Amino acid sequence: MNKKIILSHYPDASEKDWKNWRWQFQNRVTSLKKLAEITEILMPRQEKLHRVLCTYPMAITPYFLSLIEPDDENHPLTLQCIPDEKEVSVSPHCSDDPLNEDDSMPVPRLIRRYPDRVLAMVTRSCATNCRHCNRKRFWDKKDPSTLKNRLDKMVRYVADSPEIREVIISGGDPLTYDDHHLEMILSSFAAIPHLEVLRIGSRVPVVMPMRITKELCRMLKRYRPLWFNTQFNHPSEITPDAGRACNMLQEAGIPVSNQSVLLKGVNDNEDTMRRLLYGLQKISVRPYYLFHCDPVKGCYHLRTEMTEGLNMMENLLKNCSGLAMPQYVADLPGQSGKVPILALSRSLKNDLQKHQDFFDNFE
Ligand code: SF4
Repeated sequence: MNKKIILSHYPDASEKDWKNWRWQFQNRVTSLKKLAEITEILMPRQEKLHRVLCTYPMAITPYFLSLIEPDDENHPLTLQCIPDEKEVSVSPHCSDDPLNEDDSMPVPRLIRRYPDRVLAMVTRSCATNCRHCNRKRFWDKKDPSTLKNRLDKMVRYVADSPEIREVIISGGDPLTYDDHHLEMILSSFAAIPHLEVLRIGSRVPVVMPMRITKELCRMLKRYRPLWFNTQFNHPSEITPDAGRACNMLQEAGIPVSNQSVLLKGVNDNEDTMRRLLYGLQKISVRPYYLFHCDPVKGCYHLRTEMTEGLNMMENLLKNCSGLAMPQYVADLPGQSGKVPILALSRSLKNDLQKHQDFFDNFE
């Protein structure tokens, strides 16, 4: 979709505004009325979607909206950001919180599933609400307490737990905070002597890349070793703006890795996945994990069969540079954590059997 067309629906906005993350954030498309003004994509389905939005609100930055194809309601980026009535239909075997995160919080919003790491959900807000989000249960809930209040409790808990060496700052998307608030979070954790590493989980390089500014990078640099994980799911998301954002982080000494989610109609075929992985390699972003989509209520229609994912990964393994290969994993509840999905297909087994002499005791 053309950026100029979108801008024409914001009468006072300029090109300069477009490049400003605050403008992008404040002007997210959150109503069906605004969406209908900009694109006719949902015209026939408008009525039904009101119900979806009551359960799972919509939020899309004008930037991310500019990447969708206006005439294709099954475009891979459309599927990720535009609501679908299937979100409120029956979702077999799905639940709001399949990873049991709510029961793994020693203090509010601090998820502890492993002995040496915790995940701090510092906000419920996101630049764009991804329809496949495994925390979409929080979208319609307002934060009852202040950031400072929540942060104090989390920091106290981590400070009293010397076995924790890493904090993952997540949400929601922590980069929806301004630099001042983000630094308050980083500096509070960084002051804990036994913490070795901080990690940020954020999708802003994909959905609002203008958030990565020189000032932000200067500030982040002070908190190294700091790792940054993002989520590109489709090659069309690797735009020059997104590439520039990742590059700025890397130049500040912050390694950027990618955790994709395997999504039906988005990236569940070999060609798309290869283009995504090679595209990431070109912008020096490490393909780290490919997550099998969790059984989350409201995401059933975007889930694939695990055998489809396995077949795709096996083909990629044969035809794709090893440096570009992520690990295909399923996240399981509680302390089981991430489990690699590795079963061998008949064809790979045959390949191994053909070369039995390579192994002492292959069966
Ligand atoms: S950015 Fe992350 S937390 Fe936010 S909606 Fe997307 S997947 Fe969920």
